[in-house]
Amino acid sequence: MTEQKKALKSAVKNKSASDIQVDEIGIIQSLSAGTAEVNGLPFAQMNEVLTFKNNIKGMVQKLNKNSVGVVFLSNPEELTAGDKAYRTEQVLSVPVGDALLGRVINPLGEPLDGLDFPITTDSYPIERPATPIMHRAPVNTPLQTGIKAIDSFIPIGRGQRELILGDRQTGKTAIAIDTIINQKETDVICIYCAIGQRATATARVINDLTMAGVIHKTVIIVAGGDSPAGLQYVAPYAATSIGEYFMEQGKDVLIIYDDLTAHARAYRQLSLLLRTPPGREAFPGDIFYIHARLLERSTHLREQFGGGSLTALPIVSTEASNISAYIPTNIISITDGQIYLSAESFQKGMLPAIDTGRSVSRVGGDAQLPAYRSLVGPLKLFYAQFEELESFARFSTQLDAESSRRIKRGEAIRAVLQQGLFHPMPAVHQIAVFMATNAGLLDDIPIDKINEAQETIIRAFQTKYRVLARKIAEKKYKPTENETAEIIETFQKALSVLKSEDK
Ligand code: ATP
Ligand code: MG
Repeated sequence: MTEQKKALKSAVKNKSASDIQVDEIGIIQSLSAGTAEVNGLPFAQMNEVLTFKNNIKGMVQKLNKNSVGVVFLSNPEELTAGDKAYRTEQVLSVPVGDALLGRVINPLGEPLDGLDFPITTDSYPIERPATPIMHRAPVNTPLQTGIKAIDSFIPIGRGQRELILGDRQTGKTAIAIDTIINQKETDVICIYCAIGQRATATARVINDLTMAGVIHKTVIIVAGGDSPAGLQYVAPYAATSIGEYFMEQGKDVLIIYDDLTAHARAYRQLSLLLRTPPGREAFPGDIFYIHARLLERSTHLREQFGGGSLTALPIVSTEASNISAYIPTNIISITDGQIYLSAESFQKGMLPAIDTGRSVSRVGGDAQLPAYRSLVGPLKLFYAQFEELESFARFSTQLDAESSRRIKRGEAIRAVLQQGLFHPMPAVHQIAVFMATNAGLLDDIPIDKINEAQETIIRAFQTKYRVLARKIAEKKYKPTENETAEIIETFQKALSVLKSEDK
């Protein structure tokens, strides 16, 4: 026995077991595209952060018999097999707090906007258990998107999960951004989480939010398409923890995941590299679970738990309008409804390209303002009848009076539902416009004058019914029949001026 070993042996003999400090040091066995197999860390835990040389970080993602599977959270280019890995004994967590508002960060909380590290005192693990059922309250407050087609036909409530899905370039991100912009005057805090997106697309989002003056109440978390797949995988969980912090302060939070298709792809890549058996479309068997676990964290808390809420708008992109592919069907089944964007409508220039027939909101209707809810029934009925009649009317030249009236009404509704970017409309203004639409006041207005007519209606409403408008929005008041009749008359007069100007 060498001197050294002898010394060691006697040192060990004189120590009790609790005195002995053993630092586990792992060794990278193999590396492949953003993942590694590390052995020598028998006590490493799931989701524990490991550090490597040059402050490169990884997370334990799989526990094997004699090794652990690691996904990298920073670029592992400088690492090679044989390099050391150190345990931190900490699960991955993210800083949370008000200092993140107005900032662009990565899922580890590191600034991407060229400013200093945000100063926060708290941090939350990125994986947290979802709120227990007993702490949850029903959805009862609307989350206005400002987009007429959504707030009327597919209303969203605070605490709801509503999927936005559609092919590439159909305006999915635009809907999310308009919804954030519409929160300018509300108390809702917004979180935009970009996963696997092009840098130019994310830069545009940041620019749009800045220009609209809502960046100060938004946190932007980015794991772009060029960042390690591990970072893309953890991004939505980190973003959700940041959102939960605000929710637990009693605030209402809106979170956008743009998009979960890219998230699923990043997870598939990691799983295949870590040799998890592939299933349908080569996704690992737990792909459903990773999204369910994420979206289950959105909720509306009961009053005694602060009454905060987390509303999620996950985005999924489809290929060739195939909503029955694996990821879309999974997420459709986890969410409380979906907003379906049609590539066909987009090509026709009907924007936003929302297919109202294939879109649904399962819980938001209860939260809709009473004055609004009473307008939606007739609106939906007329629109559905119109869509049916329209395809049929193409073949006949002679239409009876009733059918042509219905066609006119349908065309007016369709025109009203068109809406440009960055022009969210407050709920009471939407109510005014739909009151006029339902009363048939827009039936004879030429389509190219519909916008002007809407402005006229809103102006008349604002001037004459300011107090009533406030009551409708804040006190959930529904106008009486007499009030409605009077309002319609006011609109009629205002519109007749517009019509006479026309001549
Ligand atoms: P990707 O699949 O690439 O993420 P996307 O579905 O998120 O695309 P967007 O980027 O939101 O689509 O929109 C695509 C284009 O359509 C953008 O140039 C956007 O400005 C335009 N667009 C979207 N909605 C509208 C609208 N209501 N009015 C005018 N232009 C719109
Ligand atoms: Mg997009």
